[in-house]
Amino acid sequence: MTGSGSDLDGPITRSLRIPQARNVVTEIPGPRSQALEHRRSNAVASAVSSVLPVYVEDASGAILVDVDGNAFIDLGSGIGVVGVGHAAPGVVEAVAAQVGRFTHSCFMVNPYESYIAVCEALNGLAPGSGPTRTALFNSGAEAVENAVKIARHVTGRQAVVVFDHAYHGRTNLTMALTAKNMPYRDGFGPFAPEVYRVPVSYPFRDPAGMTGDEAATRAIAQIERQVGAGNVACVLIEPIQGEGGFIVPAPGFLPSLARWCAEHGVLFVVDEIQTGLCRTGKWFACEDEHIVPDLMTTAKALAGGLPLAAVTGRAEIMDGVHAGGIGGTYGGNPVACAAALAAIDTLRTLDLARAARRIGEVTLTRLLSLQAGHPGIGDVRGRGAMMAIELVRPGTLEPDPESTRQITRACHRAGVMVLACGTFANVIRLLPPLVIDAALLDDGLEVLATAVDDVLA
Ligand SMILES: *Cc1c(COP(=O)(O)O)cnc(C)c1O
Repeated sequence: MTGSGSDLDGPITRSLRIPQARNVVTEIPGPRSQALEHRRSNAVASAVSSVLPVYVEDASGAILVDVDGNAFIDLGSGIGVVGVGHAAPGVVEAVAAQVGRFTHSCFMVNPYESYIAVCEALNGLAPGSGPTRTALFNSGAEAVENAVKIARHVTGRQAVVVFDHAYHGRTNLTMALTAKNMPYRDGFGPFAPEVYRVPVSYPFRDPAGMTGDEAATRAIAQIERQVGAGNVACVLIEPIQGEGGFIVPAPGFLPSLARWCAEHGVLFVVDEIQTGLCRTGKWFACEDEHIVPDLMTTAKALAGGLPLAAVTGRAEIMDGVHAGGIGGTYGGNPVACAAALAAIDTLRTLDLARAARRIGEVTLTRLLSLQAGHPGIGDVRGRGAMMAIELVRPGTLEPDPESTRQITRACHRAGVMVLACGTFANVIRLLPPLVIDAALLDDGLEVLATAVDDVLA
């Protein structure tokens, strides 16, 4: 099903600058990367760490080339950022052209057209049919902060409800919104107040047979008991949790929450920073359950690798904040806007939502057959090009972070970039560039399968 001539093969990858093939020529990390790692340790704050210290020299499509000449299959996309692939030709061209004209004016001082065009594009893509507005920022965390600011301002309420396993960023407010202590919160308090955490729907770990509706009832009961609906400005949720472990809620969970929010004047804010822009097979993951969020945050895949983030929402909410109440020096930088317009155009013209669905089918089949031979793979889950395995002690729910580490390391040594995630550090997640060709995806999955066979043998 993954042979040449499949939907994943095509002009996309044949036009790329670097051959789309894995090639390991040194130990990993190689000598040049090791030298840079040494230099780094004397210059870069040690708190900023890297998953795999191979230093990147070049990249194209789904291939990363390091300073030692090793070519890695990138099944992480720099945490889901380069959905359109590394150095996507359209993005490179648009950025180069914009850099030659002007790189900054500050939209809040002297505006420019591309900012409007990005907002128009997101407004057009966002779920729902009513009028929408968008504001642009620099990072995902900043977008989330602003969504909360807007929600509090227009509702006149303060409480923000978030979920177990949530990840929303590393700034003070978004640390408070994030669930996991190490490494995100430990020692960094005090945290922003009026943040309340309730259980999410986690089918693998919830009581057997618990439906999405029942999981929503559990969360809502806790909100009503501990916070009170009338105090809640917004419920903030990732439609599929990213850093928390690629947790796909049971069907019905999100719609039930959204319905409760609508009934109680609570804004339903969907964080699509990792799931958005075709990653899960639709423009936005919340579309799969026909959710129309009041506010939505996007970032990672929005600008093909340049820093850009957005809050998109219903016009009467977005326009409910006074002029100058949100913004920033760099938000909606013209180079990032040029990149975003090219990235969105690439996602659309190459139909990368469809590519994501095909990647999902191929990956799911492969991971399920792997699971059949390995009871240590407790769960296979995900949607589109956002798939994962959760590793446990066979026959239990007890997390197995050690095997997870060994498998990811083995993949890295073999030239495949994979990332771990999860509250229990026991999930291996795959989020390849959506332009990855069938043969390369196959090769990457084969390397993962071999690593699993070796480690879980
Ligand atoms: C990455 C991420 C963020 C934070 O984005 P930054 O650009 O790193 O600030 C917020 N929410 C989700 C769901 C994310 O995956």
